[in-house]
Amino acid sequence: MPEGQPTEEELQNMSPEQIAEMQKKNCVFCKIIAGEVPSHKVYGDDKMIALLDIYPAAKGHTLVLPKEHTPIMPLIKPEIFKHMFRNVKYLARGVKRGAPSGRCTIFIANGAAAGQQSPHFLFHIIPRDDDDGLNNLEVPSNDISQDDILESLKTNITKMMQAHLQKEGKVLVKPPSKNELAKILDDNPQLREMIMKNPDQLKLTIETNPQLKVLFQGTDIDKLSEKLKEVEIKDVSKKEKKEEEKAKEEKKEPPKEEKKEEKKEDRESLLDKVSKMFTK
Ligand SMILES: [Zn+2]
Repeated sequence: MPEGQPTEEELQNMSPEQIAEMQKKNCVFCKIIAGEVPSHKVYGDDKMIALLDIYPAAKGHTLVLPKEHTPIMPLIKPEIFKHMFRNVKYLARGVKRGAPSGRCTIFIANGAAAGQQSPHFLFHIIPRDDDDGLNNLEVPSNDISQDDILESLKTNITKMMQAHLQKEGKVLVKPPSKNELAKILDDNPQLREMIMKNPDQLKLTIETNPQLKVLFQGTDIDKLSEKLKEVEIKDVSKKEKKEEEKAKEEKKEPPKEEKKEEKKEDRESLLDKVSKMFTK
């Protein structure tokens, strides 16, 4: 066992923090960053450094890593992650011009199973040429059906992205449920009218408006338009009937509370109808 390494028993008794501290102490890249181990540094700022790989795949093979010890990509702090990936295309451009080379491979091995050998997260920028003899990661085309995993991936990726974008305040919101959409329509007579009278115009507007696009995702606008018209006609005739009744009862002067109640019921029934038409 190398000197200074903990025994298995010692390891088992260590807290996650102690293990992280130990990994950091043993990390050759942290030693490079601290200046304890020499390196061919080609760039550095407050959050990341870039250095030449000592076992390069090609001339100019550069490693880019966060200054703070981070074993794998999911553990990078958001601000450092953003800094690194916002700048990756400029770093790559710099490598290509300096090498010089027309193209480059940008490569991340995330986790041991993916071939990550370094204890410190990093990405590779490898200048490429037509006859450089390097393979292109040899991603094989296997005969595997993806049909059964489509829904799972779609759901999970969308959920992840929505949660992330919402946190960043960038995207509205997840698409509304049918009930929520019914409520939105109920609260927006102008929108309702546009759907009924000018569905084609609405379809065009949806194409250029990301919020409307999400709002009506999966909704057949023409069908919705027809259904809304049906509801409206029924509602108008019901309203007229009610007004007639009201006029008759006016003489009796019903208490005001009752009137309010009636109005609420009206609203709910429209909501109910609009929401029902989605479930048909
Ligand atoms: Zn490190």
